Amino acid sequence: MTSSARLVIVGPQGSGKGTQGARIAELLRIPAVSTGDVFRANIAEGTPLGEQVKAITAAGDLVSDELTGQIVRDRLSQDDAARGFLLDGYPRNLHQVGDLDTFLNGRGEQLDAVIELSVPRDESMARLALRATAQGRTDDTEEGIAKRLSIYESETAPILDVYRERGIVDSIDGVGTLDEITERIVAALTARGITRPAAV
Ligand code: AMP
Repeated sequence: MTSSARLVIVGPQGSGKGTQGARIAELLRIPAVSTGDVFRANIAEGTPLGEQVKAITAAGDLVSDELTGQIVRDRLSQDDAARGFLLDGYPRNLHQVGDLDTFLNGRGEQLDAVIELSVPRDESMARLALRATAQGRTDDTEEGIAKRLSIYESETAPILDVYRERGIVDSIDGVGTLDEITERIVAALTARGITRPAAV
């Protein structure tokens, strides 16, 4: 059986979705595609894209749906994403859900599962404050964090309702050790028949 693994991980900033997404992608041998990482890498390298999005991301605002969608489509069109991928940070609003649907439908594909990482607001705020000190992310200021959490609540959380109606959301408790949380996600995906492919 060659099952596909087209996944999205969704959760508020500080929920650990980047870390868990990378772990799950590695286990399933699919690429993890983080739009935030793409933007940060371009900003660090000083590319034209980086210059374009620098001020927007620093302010905690969202980059345009058009630009972000183009980046995602380019990345998902690469060979290593043919059997699956794990999107982290995309889609982030209802418009992006529609863009992703259009792209996948055009290829005769669809999402297999959406992993929702649930973490209480206090916990994600505390984790973000720690990350700000540890990694020095320029958007991890108190103001930037508050803005991104409120954008998450107003624009991103509603995408889960759309996916819930399709029956593809797995809500995972995001509080626990890294290994415990990974195991919960793996168990939920396994229940859907999404497993690590046999070694080739
Ligand atoms: P993240 O690491 O996912 O928190 O993303 C960092 C920043 O990159 C966000 O605050 C946005 O400015 C930008 N960004 C990442 N993903 C998206 C997206 N899907 N749509 C718009 N902007 C995004």
